[in-house]
Amino acid sequence: MKVGVFYSELFLKHDLPTHPENALRLKYFMEPVFELGIPLLKPSPVSYELLRAVHSENYIQEVLMSCREGAPGFFDPDTYYNQYTFDAATLASGANERGVELLLKGEYEAIFCAVRPPGHHAERDRAMGFCIFNNVAVAAVKALSMGVERVFIVDFDAHHGNGTQKAFYDNEKVFYFSTHQYPFYPGTGSTRENNSHVFNVPLKEGSSDREFKEVYSRLFQEKLREFSPEILLVSAGYDLHRDDPLTGLEASDEGVKEIVEEIVKGARGLKIPILFTLEGGYNLQALKRCSKLTFEVLLNS
Ligand SMILES: [Zn+2]
Repeated sequence: MKVGVFYSELFLKHDLPTHPENALRLKYFMEPVFELGIPLLKPSPVSYELLRAVHSENYIQEVLMSCREGAPGFFDPDTYYNQYTFDAATLASGANERGVELLLKGEYEAIFCAVRPPGHHAERDRAMGFCIFNNVAVAAVKALSMGVERVFIVDFDAHHGNGTQKAFYDNEKVFYFSTHQYPFYPGTGSTRENNSHVFNVPLKEGSSDREFKEVYSRLFQEKLREFSPEILLVSAGYDLHRDDPLTGLEASDEGVKEIVEEIVKGARGLKIPILFTLEGGYNLQALKRCSKLTFEVLLNS
């Protein structure tokens, strides 16, 4: 597949070294990208109109003003900001915006937005769970604005993407499929929340490769084929790995590789492009290995 990676050093400036979601994560994630020589794409900030389709004016202004004041702080007990956070977050969403555009124009078959801060917990009016703006939601809205009728989002982060689910809960053009540890932060993601286009697969603490294989080779493929989207978006959170310090899911390197293979297989079967966007993943070595195996799968497909 023709693969590109959106990356900017500005993503490293949103940082708090004592926090698990720190800049080192992205440095480790990028090592295999550089080693494999994957073409780098340079993001621009998200268009204001598109960001406004996902977040409220008040919230965007709150983020902007807080960051411009210069002193670091927290939007919620988990979610820090500093003077670079607004710029990094709008660039992260901008990578998703431009990524969708390039994919729909047929210039790439797969694009990975190697971005920070992550996005899937961010809601219309608030930052949450290390997330400022909901990058994958921005990607979905961008695709819809370009005339796409059906967007499929798959979220394999160990945490449920409450912000993404909420953004499209009443929008039948967007399917949200998530595997996550449950019960667990952020508390959402039970099967009771499922509807015609929301499919949560809550997994017990300790779930490992066998459970993931079952879900991604069967349920995911079924839902994807039934919905028949024109683009596949992936909230790629690597905290499902057994070495992750924050979560209790137990996927091995091989298990993560199988998930990525199933996602690629699903997209290839429908001949649709894939946009990955980085969410969680807090063990640096595991994150680096997961990055490598993801790009190897993409390059060999
Ligand atoms: Zn997570």
